[in-house]
Amino acid sequence: MNDESYTSAQLMRWLWRDYLKKHTGIMIVAVFFMIVEGSTLGVLAKLMEPMFDRVFVGGDRGALVWVGLVLVGIFALRALATVVQKVLLTRVAQRTAADLRIDLLDQMMRQDGAFHQSHPPGFLVQRVQSDVNAVSDVWRAVITGAGRDLVGLVILMGVAIAIDPIWALLAMIGVPLMILPAAIAQRFVRARSREARDLGASLSTRLDEVFHGIVQIKLNALEAYQARQYRELTRTFIRTEVRAAFGNSAIPAMIDIMSGIGFMAVIVYGGSEIIAGNKTIGEFMTFFTALGFMFSPLRRLGAISGLWQMAAAALERIKELLDAPLRLRSPAQPVPAPTGPPDVVLKDVSLSYGGTKVLDALNLTAKAGETTALVGASGAGKSTIFNLLTRLVDPQSGQVQIGGTDTNAMTLNDLRGMFSVVTQEALLFDESLRENIILGRTDVSDEDLQQVLQDAHVADFLPQLDKGLDTRVGPRGSALSGGQRQRVVIARALLRDTPILLLDEATSALDAQSEQVVQDALDRLAKGRTTIVIAHRLSTIRSADKIVVMDRGQVKDEGTHDELMARGGIYADLYRLQFRDGKTVTDTRGLGAGRAKARRKEAQQPNLLQRLGAALFG
Ligand code: ADP
Ligand code: MG
Repeated sequence: MNDESYTSAQLMRWLWRDYLKKHTGIMIVAVFFMIVEGSTLGVLAKLMEPMFDRVFVGGDRGALVWVGLVLVGIFALRALATVVQKVLLTRVAQRTAADLRIDLLDQMMRQDGAFHQSHPPGFLVQRVQSDVNAVSDVWRAVITGAGRDLVGLVILMGVAIAIDPIWALLAMIGVPLMILPAAIAQRFVRARSREARDLGASLSTRLDEVFHGIVQIKLNALEAYQARQYRELTRTFIRTEVRAAFGNSAIPAMIDIMSGIGFMAVIVYGGSEIIAGNKTIGEFMTFFTALGFMFSPLRRLGAISGLWQMAAAALERIKELLDAPLRLRSPAQPVPAPTGPPDVVLKDVSLSYGGTKVLDALNLTAKAGETTALVGASGAGKSTIFNLLTRLVDPQSGQVQIGGTDTNAMTLNDLRGMFSVVTQEALLFDESLRENIILGRTDVSDEDLQQVLQDAHVADFLPQLDKGLDTRVGPRGSALSGGQRQRVVIARALLRDTPILLLDEATSALDAQSEQVVQDALDRLAKGRTTIVIAHRLSTIRSADKIVVMDRGQVKDEGTHDELMARGGIYADLYRLQFRDGKTVTDTRGLGAGRAKARRKEAQQPNLLQRLGAALFG
């Protein structure tokens, strides 16, 4: 990511136009109360004059009472103004942060797979959570500063000038000294904050990967390794944050020094005027109180420039994400999706990832209402075809048609609404079983739900769960077994009742017993739909209407099981390999027994891990 991608002015204008402007009303009220709060300081300073000259020096007892009462009144007013403006600003700050977050989430969800591959989840979480916080903290400080502190400062300055313009000028004698150092400090803070934001994202990514891979980490004894990596990253992060804080505190520190110089100048010059009798003690006290009161607003205002640099670093990152172009878009004039089970056709489709060709002028037809199976070695491009159909990726050339309509002529929502996809890893959310099946729909009747639970064999294991349908399934469904998760996903698909069904290794990770139950549920699900199924275990696709044999992104052969077996070729080889009768495989022809073995092992591994995982955490 390049530095200086946006100037401060651009960022401020964008933040104002898109997020803050609509809260103008509330902010005007808040600023009014800030002005009240800020101006009380001026009145307090001004009160020093009668207090000293009339009460203490003049001995006027009557004045004692009214000066005291005014004092109380000012403090009460100040308290009220503080509370009101804080509450109002918090509301605006939180709403702005929420708007930013929602926009970010919205945009992130529309990005394609390539984007999410280069922007891992932890990184995005960091952007949506911490970076937005950094922004809303700061602009709040900016507004408070501009409203309360600036107003306070101007009024106090007015009080000071009214006493003696020359004194006031002397008090400012240190200002020119700090212009250059302050500018340097600002650049420094911006640079360090940028680093800190990027490091924060790396830290979140690490955590995300650790917690998602916790079972693998335990099984491979990687705890110490991961902890070390995290610690090292944390050290760098701390160093950067501390340096940013140093730069950030340098500015108020410079203001302190500058104020000290100003004070000294006024005492040396003004003190002799009092001794000479040109000014009263009350005037001198008012002047000094005003100067003293200027301290904190000045320091806060000074700190804002550093804070803004920190926020700008976060804003840059957020804006980069919001501005990242969407590669997959719905068409401007969409065609409605076809109804009923449609034909699915790929025509001369080619797709590459980087320089690697994954699909090579591929032609494929899956007939309406039939089951078409895709077989081929790992990496042949089978799953990629599913991604193309649902437009998780677009091809570089060729057409994808559903019911005769180009997929990119429909809206993404309509298109994806036609598919139910069941893959090896069932995606469940950490909610109740019921929620995971109905997915927020409100029009599901109880009979329909019961029917679906029966058909998907969810009803079989429901009695074992202590809260039945209201049982929470744990993060990613970890409280259920692999087969149970799969059945929940099938129930979800049955309820969705889409015309097309895509099954990608849906039973590969299951043991023989679960496989049978899930397969039975899948068969019911496939009925009356255009179904495309990918399976390593060829037994599960024997009965498919058509089997398509793929190799390195191309279709090599297609036909029914019997036709392909009779023809003899990759399919027949694969099939014999899986159904050898207990003896050593001799006829592997270009497949290699080792490779086949490795593949079988690969297919079993998740199952083993899941069981170990369940043993560890269940
Ligand atoms: P399979 O037939 O095993 O399902 P895939 O369709 O998943 O094969 O993958 C086909 C090829 O495309 C593989 O070589 C894989 O490495 C590559 N591939 C798939 N997805 C991506 C991606 N997002 N980025 C880069 N390469 C990918
Ligand atoms: Mg695959």
